[in-house]
Amino acid sequence: MATPARPPDQPPDRPTSTLALAHALSAAERGLAVIPLSRTKLPALRSPHHDDPAGSPVCHGECGRPGHGVYDATTDPAHIRHLFAAAPWATGYGIACGLPPHHLVGIDIDTKPDRSTSTALRELALRHLFTIPDTVVVLTPSGGRHLWLTGPPDLVIPNSASRLAPGIDVRGAGGYLVGPGSRSAHGAYRTAPGTAHLAPAPCPRALLRLLAPPPAPHDREAGNRRSSGSDSGGQGLIQFVLAAREGQRNTRLFWAACRAYETGLGPTLTEPLTHAARHTGLPEHEARATIASAARLIRGRGPASI
Ligand SMILES: [Zn+2]
Repeated sequence: MATPARPPDQPPDRPTSTLALAHALSAAERGLAVIPLSRTKLPALRSPHHDDPAGSPVCHGECGRPGHGVYDATTDPAHIRHLFAAAPWATGYGIACGLPPHHLVGIDIDTKPDRSTSTALRELALRHLFTIPDTVVVLTPSGGRHLWLTGPPDLVIPNSASRLAPGIDVRGAGGYLVGPGSRSAHGAYRTAPGTAHLAPAPCPRALLRLLAPPPAPHDREAGNRRSSGSDSGGQGLIQFVLAAREGQRNTRLFWAACRAYETGLGPTLTEPLTHAARHTGLPEHEARATIASAARLIRGRGPASI
């Protein structure tokens, strides 16, 4: 077995890593896809393309190797163990947001010594007439808190920093939350008393409206749809699905289908993507349901729906 390339500033911390793995596995049992994180809260595994010559194609895991950040996220226990084994310096884990089944949205509330940002969220709730539901709350070592909410499957919530209010960041599609039980250089992340047993609550509608992306200026893709699925973009998406391990199959198919619809290749790639997903062992009806869900999501995003 090859020795994993370890950044010199991150010595292995086996007890902490083992604990992080245990917490990560337990999150995965709840349907949350995870990746190992280092003490800096960044993905612990270095990109396998780190030393590639500049100009190499962007890879989101199509190469089959770990080290693609949130794209490595999985709920498969064997794969999680594999990722942590490759990153013995991991001290925490990240939970990917925006993925089925929970479509997790994280409200990251920073707490400044001079001003409680929790108050800012309460003010926002009063102004926009929503109540903050009882949900999982994770306390950060710096005194901040993460509220876990679930989004509807047909809406992509983007990441944002201080868009809602100063000091309130949103973790959505493509983002991740540091999971409870993680340790960073600043200390431990833990669930707020009385919230660990809760299921993430649905995001209030009024808050969803604030979190939704601004509408696209116009639907460029609709008037510029390509008729062939044989271009490299389409092939890359199919390879991405084919490279899925157990626990990643649905997630990868969903992402690939979203990207296909974003670039106008959705209808062309539906059959090849379904075929690729079946090749990885996903039942056909499940594959079709996932692709249909991605199609609804992307079509509902812009004003000029196809
Ligand atoms: Zn790669």
